[in-house]
Amino acid sequence: MRALLVVGWVAGLLLWECKRALRPVVDDKWTRDRRNLAVAGLAAAVTQVLEVPVALAIAGRGAERRQGLLRILPLPPWAKPVAAILLLDYSLYGWHWLTHRVPFLWNFHRVHHLDREMDASTAVRFHFGEIALSVGYRAAQIRVIGVEPREYAAWQGFLMLCILFHHANIRLPLVWERRLAAVLVTPRLHGIHHSVVREEVNSNWSSGLTVWDRLHGTFRADWRAELPEDSPVLGVEGMRGDEDQTLRWALLLPFSR
Ligand SMILES: [Zn+2]
Repeated sequence: MRALLVVGWVAGLLLWECKRALRPVVDDKWTRDRRNLAVAGLAAAVTQVLEVPVALAIAGRGAERRQGLLRILPLPPWAKPVAAILLLDYSLYGWHWLTHRVPFLWNFHRVHHLDREMDASTAVRFHFGEIALSVGYRAAQIRVIGVEPREYAAWQGFLMLCILFHHANIRLPLVWERRLAAVLVTPRLHGIHHSVVREEVNSNWSSGLTVWDRLHGTFRADWRAELPEDSPVLGVEGMRGDEDQTLRWALLLPFSR
């Protein structure tokens, strides 16, 4: 069911990107998409082989031993899964912040930011090393919050739909997007996070709900009807050349000096 939902979501976003793009498409879209999907393939393999088994084992053990914050609090049954997803979303804000602030982690995360254009394929362009490094943090999220296996699975589905949506190069009616941004991260908001300008990159770290950025004063929006052609320029400063955009470089960058 979840796989079908994601496939349908991707198809819808691709169609939308072709019909009504938010930013100009300069590089050949299919070349970029193929490259990003190759990076994503390795990341997906590490997710399946490492993250999912570890996450489910930690969640299962926590359930058996009644461990974690949400198992201690006297919550009604309906509120526990909602709180679990909210806290996973919030703690992911923390991980995203760390990947920008800790130079060793940024070395891996910048592979995601290196893409000088952004669309739904950028959403899954994560270096496999970043996924491997995130497993310990993910295990801690699940253990501390007290996440059930099914809550983890539901959050993964929610997160995938969110990141595909806010990376997609799609133009929404401005009024809708402004309203939506009160709750969820939108394509314009996340475009600011992918800017080459440092102050802009250091904003909009939320992955699902925008409340975390508002809470930390890192929310940044640009509601001009037409984005000026040069704003935001996407990618990593000093790494926007053709030679920085290859698949080989995307895979080797974290290991280079
Ligand atoms: Zn980032």
